[in-house]
Amino acid sequence: MSNNSFSPIHVVGGGLAGSEAAWQIAQSGVPVILHEMRGVRGTDAHRTDSLAELVCSNSFRSDDATANAVGVIHAEMRLANSLIIACADRNQVPAGGALAVDRDGFSAAVTQEIDAHPLITVVREEVTGLPPKEWDLAILATGPLTSPSLAQAIQAETGEDHLAFFDAIAPIVHRDSIDMNICWHQSRYDKVGPGGNGKDYINCPMDQAQYNAFLDALIAGDTVGFKEWEGTPYFDGCLPIEVMAERGRETLRHGPMKPMGLTNAHNPTVKAYAVVQLRQDNALGTLFNMVGFQTKLKYGAQAEIFRMIPGLQNAEFARLGGLHRNTYIQSPMLLDRTLTLKSRPGLRFAGQITGCEGYVESAAIGLLAGRFAAAERKGVDPVPPPSTTAFGALLSHITGGHLMSEDEPGKRSFQPMNVNFGLFPELEPGSIVRPEGVKRFRGKDKTIMKRQLMAARALKDCSRWLALG
Ligand SMILES: Cc1cc2nc3c(=O)[nH]c(=O)nc-3n(C[C@H](O)[C@H](O)[C@H](O)COP(=O)(O)OP(=O)(O)OC[C@H]3O[C@@H](n4cnc5c(N)ncnc54)[C@H](O)[C@@H]3O)c2cc1C
Repeated sequence: MSNNSFSPIHVVGGGLAGSEAAWQIAQSGVPVILHEMRGVRGTDAHRTDSLAELVCSNSFRSDDATANAVGVIHAEMRLANSLIIACADRNQVPAGGALAVDRDGFSAAVTQEIDAHPLITVVREEVTGLPPKEWDLAILATGPLTSPSLAQAIQAETGEDHLAFFDAIAPIVHRDSIDMNICWHQSRYDKVGPGGNGKDYINCPMDQAQYNAFLDALIAGDTVGFKEWEGTPYFDGCLPIEVMAERGRETLRHGPMKPMGLTNAHNPTVKAYAVVQLRQDNALGTLFNMVGFQTKLKYGAQAEIFRMIPGLQNAEFARLGGLHRNTYIQSPMLLDRTLTLKSRPGLRFAGQITGCEGYVESAAIGLLAGRFAAAERKGVDPVPPPSTTAFGALLSHITGGHLMSEDEPGKRSFQPMNVNFGLFPELEPGSIVRPEGVKRFRGKDKTIMKRQLMAARALKDCSRWLALG
């Protein structure tokens, strides 16, 4: 280790997030001790001892920084000298518009850079409890497969309801792709409730024939099995929608699709046979989740079957549903804007355990946590990126942009999410205008222009933020 005058920051977990966090801290001149358990203890998904191992796909998804939110976050990471993106760029394999990598070459490159850095010390050990007092600044980046003893310690600190071990995710839909000529806003029995206005849900009506056809499609739909080590985690009120459908033809009509307490604003005299409800998912009001629609259906089947729902025929999904092993905390309640656990100053979380999803997003949150911790070590107040950037949009989702559910206070209402334009604040009114000389300017053209403008705004604001230091 170096003779640097700063005390080290401890990073636990040498995955995508922890490696990036360690790199950012060390590049700012602060020493790091990176604790990684692989080498002495494995996980159920990792196969090697390399840092930043990719456990499944070898793709970092779209690299289009002009109109794709994932491409924008790649570009922001390049601007911030990300190790993960630099190693991905160096180990790229052909994949059309996507950034895909030679997985072994990529992890070897990250491991080599970290091992060679004079300010980083890698310790191969399992950290079994919360960081001891002597580690005054630490980052936990132990990912979706955090070892059980550490998970238990996190749970003891945060409270039982604030650490989830499975994603039970219902699909999330972009609000502007829902057909409001068919759907209407109304809360069941017009209940105002705390913080509501009686019109909080978007309702999609079905007649009997539509319900029966939908039920048949759900029952026939292809599903994904559980991995051996995942078990079958069906628990309290979190049954997959297709499992409920199999239990009887009336089960859904008396469960998540019950039509009671709702009057179709477009057709008040005709009672719907069943209703699918969507609830606002983010503070911006751009995303809505399908209430009670957690599912193990394959992605292709989900998109096809859920577009059978009246009003969702053109639905664009910000994410599809799923149910799989994942350890993550209720970040919106537990973390502040700089990813610090409110109950333990000096302790930050990073990566998928914060409730972001995916390699790129985990590395991006690792990058931010590393920068925030390094700033704190230097006695500077960390400044979060503006929410108009992809960094900031994702950070806002994790640390407060998500709305907590009234029905399930705190519990499981916050679900992991990939970066997408639904997390970005809207553009200034009047930003989307038909370009001169263009005759036909349809909805699809407007959506493309909106994404392009959001992407350009993000990169400009990210450069400004990085220039602050
Ligand atoms: C089966 C599976 C398949 C996936 N497939 C994909 C995919 O195809 N694409 C995608 O984008 N995302 C995928 N993901 C999600 C993916 O895991 C994350 O996006 C990403 O790896 C998260 O990065 P991370 O750094 O938060 O966690 P990880 O990359 O998992 O890193 C966490 C590290 O912490 C270490 N660790 C855990 N506990 C301790 C401890 N107590 N002490 C010390 N070290 C510890 C682990 O060994 C690991 O190296 C998948 C996840 C799983 C479980």
